[in-house]
Amino acid sequence: MQIQSFLSIAEQFKVVFLDSYGVLKNYNGLIHGVRHTIDFLRSRDIIIRVLTNDASRSQLQQAESFHRLGLHDIQEHEIITSGMMAKQFLEQKITNGKIAYLGTENSAHYILQSGLEHIPLRDIDLRNLDDISALVFLDDEGFDWNTDITKTVNLLRHKNLPVIVANSDKFYPVSKNEVAVGTGGIAKLIENMLDRKFIHFGKPDSQMFIYAYDELNSTGNYNRSEILMVGDTLQADILGGNKFGVKTTLVLSGNTSREDAPLQIRSSGIIPDYICESILT
Ligand SMILES: [Mg+2]
Repeated sequence: MQIQSFLSIAEQFKVVFLDSYGVLKNYNGLIHGVRHTIDFLRSRDIIIRVLTNDASRSQLQQAESFHRLGLHDIQEHEIITSGMMAKQFLEQKITNGKIAYLGTENSAHYILQSGLEHIPLRDIDLRNLDDISALVFLDDEGFDWNTDITKTVNLLRHKNLPVIVANSDKFYPVSKNEVAVGTGGIAKLIENMLDRKFIHFGKPDSQMFIYAYDELNSTGNYNRSEILMVGDTLQADILGGNKFGVKTTLVLSGNTSREDAPLQIRSSGIIPDYICESILT
């Protein structure tokens, strides 16, 4: 496994798509030194977009969080979240009724602000589901895992609804060796139980890549060959980038360790174009 210098790879591209968690930040906050890399990319006029599977916060809230951590020049429009994609989908496809959700009020507020009514799953009356038109998995917080997951299963047994998963990540790291179960993991559990397939947003699906690419090309002229996708997770970032047809860099600063990388690459068949320790050097 050949480990290369991120900076010397990145400078060959016009655009760099960066995953957030495991690349720019981790459970400790901002990864020490990423500011220099962002400065380096800016100094070479390389365009940056952050593509994150986080659906719990809006673009503005994400940008503010980077500012608080010390990345002061990250702009709102440079951040693309899976929540934005889910929001767009809901606005186009669900035109009446109430949208039931699992997640925090904050996530519901920004994703479901399309004018449609939304209702936390716990407030639904299973005996009267006439006006419920969709179910959305927004966040792993904001509900009771015991009662509300059981209730979700019953809801979907009683009524056939479109189900949208705003963040497909099955889990996310909370310390060096521990993960927490994420929205995508809960959704997967229910999909398996009910033998159903939900509509998933976030990497590795292409929606965020398409959005970022279209937005770049609305003002400029960029080819896929001029874009580099950088991430710490083979199944999300690298698979997503490979499917979209851009070059990919796996960094070893998050989900995938140096020890595990060769085996994970071999067993998954997901092959990054480059492997770097982190984005720092
Ligand atoms: Mg990540």
